[in-house]
Amino acid sequence: MPHAYDPQNIFARILRGEIPNKTVLETAHTLAFHDIQPQAPVHVLVIPKGAYASYDHFAAEASDAEIVDFNRAVAEVCRLTGVDLGEGGQGFRAITNAGAHGVQEVPHYHLHILGGRPLGRMLARADS
Ligand code: 5GP
Repeated sequence: MPHAYDPQNIFARILRGEIPNKTVLETAHTLAFHDIQPQAPVHVLVIPKGAYASYDHFAAEASDAEIVDFNRAVAEVCRLTGVDLGEGGQGFRAITNAGAHGVQEVPHYHLHILGGRPLGRMLARADS
């Protein structure tokens, strides 16, 4: 089944400039901005500008240029926010939620970059 995309989702509206955001980085194919409800001292969302609903949608259908641009933007966001190990930072966690089981709230692919404090285990054992 083809991936569906809702053009009225909140990140599509941010990309159209209908809703403000605190931009960390903008490139040809990618936008990175601070999460409105940060769960760590660093909590940045990295999103492709293209209409991709989830990571699997992006990975399957985005162009090589979009995929490269996105990943280079992630590296730059890590550097800019001071969590990049190569720049002397203490590290980070990159998370993407997809669909119902992944508890994805906004149906436009986004990668959470979290850091700035020890983040604990990835998943609580009780959830497994
Ligand atoms: P998800 O659960 O889909 O992986 O994460 C969605 C994230 O988007 C949440 O962390 C939430 O705080 C963030 N978010 C929702 N609406 C807005 C918004 O209007 N602006 C920003 N900057 N972040 C938002």
